Amino acid sequence: MKITDLKTAIIRGVGPAVLVKVYSDEGIWGIGECYPSAPGNGIQNIVRHMKELLIGEDPRNVDMLYEKIKRAFLFTGAQAGAVVTALTGIESALWDLTAKSLGVPIYQMLGGKFRDKIRIYADCHAGRDESPEAYAEEAQRVVAMGYNAIKFDVDDIDNPDKLDRWNWSVTPKELEGMVKRVAAVREAVGPYIDIAIDMHGRYNIDAACKVAKEMEPFNLMWLEEPVPPENVDAMLKVKQSTSTPICAGENLYTRFGFRELLQKQAVDVIMPDVAHTGGLSEARKVANMAEVYYIPFAPHCVSSPIGMMAACHVCASVPNFLVLEFHGLRSPQWNDLIVGDKPLIQNGYITLPDKPGLGVELNDEVARRYVHTRMSTAYFDD
Ligand code: MG
Repeated sequence: MKITDLKTAIIRGVGPAVLVKVYSDEGIWGIGECYPSAPGNGIQNIVRHMKELLIGEDPRNVDMLYEKIKRAFLFTGAQAGAVVTALTGIESALWDLTAKSLGVPIYQMLGGKFRDKIRIYADCHAGRDESPEAYAEEAQRVVAMGYNAIKFDVDDIDNPDKLDRWNWSVTPKELEGMVKRVAAVREAVGPYIDIAIDMHGRYNIDAACKVAKEMEPFNLMWLEEPVPPENVDAMLKVKQSTSTPICAGENLYTRFGFRELLQKQAVDVIMPDVAHTGGLSEARKVANMAEVYYIPFAPHCVSSPIGMMAACHVCASVPNFLVLEFHGLRSPQWNDLIVGDKPLIQNGYITLPDKPGLGVELNDEVARRYVHTRMSTAYFDD
């Protein structure tokens, strides 16, 4: 089997979803998604440059082709960011193509599955406003949909209680507001729903430690990115200061990007994004590295159903999977982007399909309507 072509589309999934289709001379094609860490058309252009390294190759040599592209881009950003994101879309498509050619689900090629359904947490973002009552109301609404784990943001750079949007501090009033919102959510959902709180890497060590300490009574599933992602020692200081579990990793790429974080055990939970950290193989390797430290794997995800299902195959294949993010509560088109049984998430879980490959098919008619025309008008016809 040989790769004959590669085509792309950018659709509105949650944010812009860059979709990559890889075609073979046997008439089988595979689809993958990557989530842009740069404008989607930038990623699309990098994917198109990578195409020449794939034509004529056997698509079933997924890891070798990943390495071939990565090495070719060694001096142009193959360590993190846009290049790895583009490579991720291709790698995921190669898995779909290979699994389809062998007539098995992708998870079967990753060593099989530990579970039949994947636990999902819903990213609620915020309430209709920043009041504790609005947060509580949103928490109850989402839990009523069947989720047993939810996430809220408590950082807001436009918060009037924040005296300076640049200095990474937390004011006492801002901190009080955060605590009241989280307390309201915990009160609203009771003790048995898992709650994650995201700080988006916008605080310094002192501020992060103060927030983490104040969160201790609420038994969080985790506090996410309390400090920016670049300084692992800073993350470790926050972790050592509190009994609140600390989670990070959505801004890290490849197993090499996770090495220091894991070696120093600077977090309690890792959250690689399967749609940009390097692909399915790479995400699985990161999960395996985390397992050595008994650290759970809880992928970040802002993908369309295509990227979300790719993440599900990885989550199925590792013992230390905890929970997978769903970010599409406010994207009404999300389920319509695919054909088949819907909604994809039922009672807070995605059941793994047993069809060959990814196991979900894009609804071309709907997806075409959601082409991200500001970035690119192409729909697999470039
Ligand atoms: Mg986050």
